[in-house]
Amino acid sequence: MKVFFGEIEVTTKDRTELIDISSYVGDHVHKSNINDGLCLVFTLHSTVSVVVNEHERGLMQDIVKKIKEEFPKGAGWLHDRVDDNADSHLASTFIGPSRIFPVKDGTLVKGTWQNIFLLELDGPRRRKVIVEVMGE
Ligand code: ZN
Repeated sequence: MKVFFGEIEVTTKDRTELIDISSYVGDHVHKSNINDGLCLVFTLHSTVSVVVNEHERGLMQDIVKKIKEEFPKGAGWLHDRVDDNADSHLASTFIGPSRIFPVKDGTLVKGTWQNIFLLELDGPRRRKVIVEVMGE
């Protein structure tokens, strides 16, 4: 089995924001020269998530709105006494730091309307995403 390890760096501009990283992930899969296997997309942060959905401006705003509703800022969270971003940690905890994709015939397998996003939850910041491709 071969293992390829790549990294993506992203600079976010808003506190809560979706950044489409599909093409960067796809580039790493091609660079890996792995034809069949799995691709892990994993973020190295406790206030970021990786999600999959359609790249449509309205939907992207809906997702941000839903996150703010589900994880309201300053709602009496204990962690806010430390650094005022408990809502970001909570959202990341429940949404998760990673997604896994199939790799087939040297290409990342995903649906037509599935894009891969870095979900910034406490920006703006510089963020890192690991892309590890494993297979033959
Ligand atoms: Zn914190």
